[in-house]
Amino acid sequence: IPTAQRDFDYFMFVRQWAGSFCSTHACPLVPNRGFHFTIHGLWPNYSNGSWPQFCTPEDKFDEDQLEDLMDDLEVEWPSVYDSDETFWEHEWSKHGTCALDIFPSEHSYFGHILKLHWRYDLSAALRKADIVPSRTSVYRTKDLIAAIEDMYGARPLVHCGRKRQLSEIWMCLDKDLKPFDCDTSQEGNACQEVVIPPFKSRLDVDQL
Ligand code: 5GP
Ligand code: 5GP
Repeated sequence: IPTAQRDFDYFMFVRQWAGSFCSTHACPLVPNRGFHFTIHGLWPNYSNGSWPQFCTPEDKFDEDQLEDLMDDLEVEWPSVYDSDETFWEHEWSKHGTCALDIFPSEHSYFGHILKLHWRYDLSAALRKADIVPSRTSVYRTKDLIAAIEDMYGARPLVHCGRKRQLSEIWMCLDKDLKPFDCDTSQEGNACQEVVIPPFKSRLDVDQL
């Protein structure tokens, strides 16, 4: 049951594989169509599986504070079906305002998340294990987890959606932002196997 308290135990660092959503929807705005995960958010969490949310409503999202980060945010944190600003505003008010003890400002929150995203590059870890987007390959989820553990020293959660498509990879970070093994008992939608659909060109989507 979510609360609005600001204390929490750790962060869930969530990246999405937009190629799955975009294999069945037109996503003309996603800038990088290679093997490129994008950010969903960095979410304060409790050890018991719950989390705080919407902690500081008076701390309204202000895009002007992110001016120097904007070019990077547009590439690394796009929304696949909404305006980017709406997505960022939602993530700030729901999750960021609960992490003010660690990131005292919006700029600090978004800036650190970009750095974490580059530091824990998911496609680099997967590529090293020959796991890449493919129309035909089916991967064992445990091989994705092992590839990320091999490179970053901690086991993530792998989320899948319809037709076993990879949807998100969740890493658990302590309050010093160091990765640790996620508790798999909190795994929501687990698949034994996943597919990683490549981005389609806009033309492909128009022909669906
Ligand atoms: P979904 O139901 O799509 O998994 O999650 C919907 C929303 O609930 C997410 O966007 C996120 O804001 C929140 N949420 C779901 N699971 C967790 C969790 O384990 N930790 C936190 N902090 N938020 C979560
Ligand atoms: P959460 O509440 O789980 O942190 O974030 C999910 C919310 O962000 C949903 O309300 C969803 O409508 C919105 N959203 C906007 N763009 C995106 C996107 O590209 N991916 C996801 N997962 N959610 C998005």
